[in-house]
Amino acid sequence: MQSPGFSICVFCGARPGLNPAHLEAGRQTGQMIAANGWRLVYGAGDVGIMGEVARSAQSAGAVTMGVIPTHLMGAERGKRDLTQFVITEDMHERKKVMFMNSDAIVVLPGGAGSLDEFFEVLTWAQIGLHRKPIFLLNNDGYWQPLEALLTHLVAQGFADASMLALYTSVPDVASLEAALRAALC
Ligand code: AMP
Repeated sequence: MQSPGFSICVFCGARPGLNPAHLEAGRQTGQMIAANGWRLVYGAGDVGIMGEVARSAQSAGAVTMGVIPTHLMGAERGKRDLTQFVITEDMHERKKVMFMNSDAIVVLPGGAGSLDEFFEVLTWAQIGLHRKPIFLLNNDGYWQPLEALLTHLVAQGFADASMLALYTSVPDVASLEAALRAALC
């Protein structure tokens, strides 16, 4: 069933990682976004899991929007054949443009950049700046240490327990799809 009009921001690794299950999850995520008639918003790179999500979304017919800062055009191989390709001056502008053009945020396995992006949207939600749903794809248990850390912050009194309700952890792409549909449709 198509649910046109929604834009899904995907934060994920600019590298493929060592577990092939994460690339596969990237591929499935791109296909799932296309199958629902949603638009992919992402960092415009053609590398790692980012590239996998974009190529699979594109080949399955999704509208795609990529946002990349000038200085990463080389390193992350800016993918110019997206439906919309936006070049920003810096990282801050990139994240702002991605966030403002999205209805929901999905975080796939990735590195420090993905963590930065996750914490930015989480902390913005924590101080009431937005209510966009945030989903953590805990593919093959990848984000388990992150979730343990977040629970630790609460247990040690540095965050309110309500912080843990600001994001939803899902174990696979099928669960991600169901959670997105429940949140958006
Ligand atoms: P990574 O998860 O480290 O592979 O990075 C994923 C994406 O996050 C890449 O497109 C990086 O360019 C981006 N990124 C890296 N560092 C930052 C940062 N400080 N703020 C925002 N995005 C970043």
